[in-house]
Amino acid sequence: MKALVYGGPGQRSWTDVPDPSLKDPEDAVVRVEAVTICGSDLHILKGDLPEVQPGRVLGHEAVGTVLEVGSAVRDIKVGQRVLVSCISSCGQCRYCREGRYGQCLGGGGWILGHTIDGTQAEMVRVPFADRSLHVLPDDVTNEAALLLADILPTAYEVGVLAGKVSPGDVVLIVGAGPVGLAALTTARLFSPSRIVVVDPEPTRREEALRLGADAAVAPDADVRAELGYWTEGLGADVAIEAVGIASTFEMCADLVRPGGRIANVGVHGAPVTLHLERLWTRDVTITTGLVDTSTTSLLLRLMSDGKLDASPLITHRFCLDEMETAYDVFADPATSHALKVALTRDEQMPFA
Ligand code: NAD
Ligand code: ZN
Repeated sequence: MKALVYGGPGQRSWTDVPDPSLKDPEDAVVRVEAVTICGSDLHILKGDLPEVQPGRVLGHEAVGTVLEVGSAVRDIKVGQRVLVSCISSCGQCRYCREGRYGQCLGGGGWILGHTIDGTQAEMVRVPFADRSLHVLPDDVTNEAALLLADILPTAYEVGVLAGKVSPGDVVLIVGAGPVGLAALTTARLFSPSRIVVVDPEPTRREEALRLGADAAVAPDADVRAELGYWTEGLGADVAIEAVGIASTFEMCADLVRPGGRIANVGVHGAPVTLHLERLWTRDVTITTGLVDTSTTSLLLRLMSDGKLDASPLITHRFCLDEMETAYDVFADPATSHALKVALTRDEQMPFA
């Protein structure tokens, strides 16, 4: 089959690799119908995640059809249309028993496209199939479901739930990439009174306004004033960091009100200064997290019932074998204005 293979820093190719097969009784093999690319894949290509070995098939988000299941798989059946979640779960370890699948100690966690071959391929082997796959209802399209593999649960769990967004809150979201915009979409489920989004890119600010932000401003604007009358200049109830650089975390720390909450979602590759000399009296809660995908079923239900629509986040569409072009487009959002790309299998391809 064809797959997107990481060849070491700066190197990738859509090339022939052996078909995946069952290795463990809890595995399934899934034919990929739709797949997307994540900012983390770009981090891997930059060489920022040295644990990823050359030869690895990348990708951790997909929708597909189950081709084969191992003898210990109980619920997932051949032929089902499924979401492949970015997080796998052994179901047995102390973290899995708490629903903290991202921290799985039993061989799960973020493994696809990281420590084992991933989803940017014609087929993928998925460990712990009963817990890593979600059967999709007919009323959720492949494209919409793709957003449930990573960005929606990430934004919802690590941003909105960790930040305890509540009715009437003033919410600051720093970063309007796919994750920040997904945080905006899922924060609105809780009826905050005002959502202010910060991003230097005008097209991303426009998208934030289209998706329901009350204000979208550049980082050099008077963001505190944008938070509005009701905050009395004290700052946001909740500040969600969705960029992953020092200055944006510090912006959240400056603009959260005493007693407020900072939910850090961004992946930081460098140290950040925590100004405890300013924060220590302010009763501020700071949370960090890796997505668990413990809310995927809930988000799927909301999507199926028409209560959650993140489809505008998919801006570009390709066939699976246009993977290299899709990477070029996704990696250059300043030119392409891409948010998420969707690659789908050519309908003419025979059932494997
Ligand atoms: P992205 O790179 O597409 O978006 C980041 C956005 O931040 C861009 O729109 C950029 O213009 C904006 N930005 C840059 N500098 C800024 C500044 N000074 N102020 C405000 N905005 C600024 O990334 P994404 O896919 O949306 O992901 C966001 C972050 O979430 C990344 O760090 C990603 O690695 C992380 N992430 C975390 C988890 C998790 O489990 N914690 C999971 C997935 C992604
Ligand atoms: Zn586990």
